Amino acid sequence: MSYEELISAAAELLRQGGRNFALTGAGVSTESGIPDFRSPGTGLWERYDPMKTATLSALRRDPAAFYDWNLQRWEAVAGAEPNPAHTALARMEELGFLAGLITQNIDGLHLKAGSKSLFEIHGHLRTCRCMSCERHFPFSHVTDQYGAGINPPHCACGGVLRPDVVLFEDRMSPDFFRATQALSGCQVLVVAGTSLQVYPAAGLLDLARRVVIINREPVPGSERADLVIHGPAGRILSDLARVCAG
Ligand code: NAD
Repeated sequence: MSYEELISAAAELLRQGGRNFALTGAGVSTESGIPDFRSPGTGLWERYDPMKTATLSALRRDPAAFYDWNLQRWEAVAGAEPNPAHTALARMEELGFLAGLITQNIDGLHLKAGSKSLFEIHGHLRTCRCMSCERHFPFSHVTDQYGAGINPPHCACGGVLRPDVVLFEDRMSPDFFRATQALSGCQVLVVAGTSLQVYPAAGLLDLARRVVIINREPVPGSERADLVIHGPAGRILSDLARVCAG
């Protein structure tokens, strides 16, 4: 099929009615200047060891080093803006072609773009919580203290503050379980910009009757997809939203 035929076929699936959802990964945010994890040459895992930077045990072992590794990158995320992929997904929800959006990203760009029924299954960087007393605070409690030379940032009770993101070894977020329930009866799942290597998120494909994969590279799971469209998520999702809207 040509590119135009693939877009028309995907739009046709979405226009058949029923509950459609999208699942996104780091690849929808690379066009906003946020590096993903696994792209060859630019992925973060080529420069950082995930076992040192993104695990609960790393945070517990040496929270100051955890913040030294992660905070500069997270502050850059806070300054990023949505790109056409985020905008197109928000538009498809507004037009009724998507019932909701499930994201593995912690960058908050789907919220900024206007997505309403949003499941941030790996958490977000808007808040943090105390690892001792479990009180929640705005994430600025972390950045302000770190900026003032206080590392690790901590709560008034003395406990270390941690971001409300899901680290490797953490239990999944309440949003993950809500997303699993919402996907019951899902007709079409549009899967964009994810390598489908992180579970249980990748297992969500099994809850949809039909799957459309959008990625600039081949990914595992493509064999169970009804359609696979290769290319940049911004362009593909914009074209899909335009054709859906007719
Ligand atoms: P990943 O890095 O494993 O995979 C990204 C995928 O997107 C790759 O297959 C890549 O080929 C593709 N891709 C990159 N740019 C693209 C583009 N412009 N258009 C289309 N495809 C593109 O990321 P993942 O699958 O989301 O991995 C899961 C983990 O990554 C999650 O835990 C998530 O929290 C974390 N993560 C999030 C962010 C963020 O919040 N923006 C950034 C890095 C990693």
